[in-house]
Amino acid sequence: MTMSHQQYVKSGICENYQTLLEECGNALSTWDGYRARVTQSGPAGKEEGNEIFRLQAKYARAYAALQNHLQDCVLCRLIARFEGSQLSDATTLYGEARH
Ligand SMILES: [Zn+2]
Repeated sequence: MTMSHQQYVKSGICENYQTLLEECGNALSTWDGYRARVTQSGPAGKEEGNEIFRLQAKYARAYAALQNHLQDCVLCRLIARFEGSQLSDATTLYGEARH
């Protein structure tokens, strides 16, 4: 699982998307940080293991919510389409300018 669509942050149009992205990033860093601390302090006990699973599940939920939002949100889909078309236009223009 990787974070994708991070380029939308720059546009800053959809607040819901930004909130979800933040939650997802926070959940990921909390999970990573906890896992790293547990790993450093030796073999994980039952309690630590449970906490790692809990934090991982929290991240998975946040990530799923983010993906669902990207599919359901009209605004985010418009942005994606707009950015996609901008990208291809720029590529076309650049390609023509070189000739
Ligand atoms: Zn959105």
